[in-house]
Amino acid sequence: METERIKITVAIDGFSSSGKSTMARRLASAVGYRYIDSGAMYRAVALFGLDNGFVSSDGDVNADALVDALPRISIDFVPQPDGSQHTTINGVDVESQIRQLRVSNVVSLVAAIPAVRHRLVAMQQAFGVEKGIVMDGRDIGTTVFPDAELKIYVDASAETRAQRRFKELVEKGSAVTYEEVLANVVHRDHIDQTREESPLRKASDAISLDNSSMTLDEQDRWLIDQFERVVQSLEKA
Ligand code: C5P
Repeated sequence: METERIKITVAIDGFSSSGKSTMARRLASAVGYRYIDSGAMYRAVALFGLDNGFVSSDGDVNADALVDALPRISIDFVPQPDGSQHTTINGVDVESQIRQLRVSNVVSLVAAIPAVRHRLVAMQQAFGVEKGIVMDGRDIGTTVFPDAELKIYVDASAETRAQRRFKELVEKGSAVTYEEVLANVVHRDHIDQTREESPLRKASDAISLDNSSMTLDEQDRWLIDQFERVVQSLEKA
């Protein structure tokens, strides 16, 4: 009989559109772990704020009202037949809405509100209590799972990242320009790096990866190698 392998927690952080979600999802599926996209949770709160008048499309945020409403929303991830998962708010599938530029434009403002972060971090930690999880975001290795056995920090130039996001949005039928997407990426980088509460930074024990010129296959192989190295060393210990 095959013995159960040790389960670890994998934290993947990095700038927006650095390809970290794709990496995280593919690793989770290859090793049979649960994947959680923490950015989708911030996006869900931003969408809820926009739809309920707590956040305006030009970025005015009524933080107190939004925070008071948070106990009324439950965010979850529902597996799809094609192996992906869709984000839901109170059971309603909001996957395509949370990816729109309307949400991208305000999400970093919502994510900078300390009470929003506290609530979402607690939910993220609850998803990870049994390990066997790959989570991607901005503060996973520093704040959500500071004890994660494997931490990756993904970097790539703003232009490379904007190009990727632009391609994704166009494929989904959005009428956006590359310049708009680049401006959004640069703007979000700035807010994510300079906010007071858990700014984006590399955990001291994270491994850096610049994937600007890597293919998906190369990226997958690199990540599986890192994963195996950590799991095997724990299994030998
Ligand atoms: O990963 P994604 O780009 O979808 O995340 C959307 C936004 O959510 C980010 O720009 C960032 O402001 C916020 N975020 C965060 N902390 C995380 C994940 C995302 O602040 N752990």
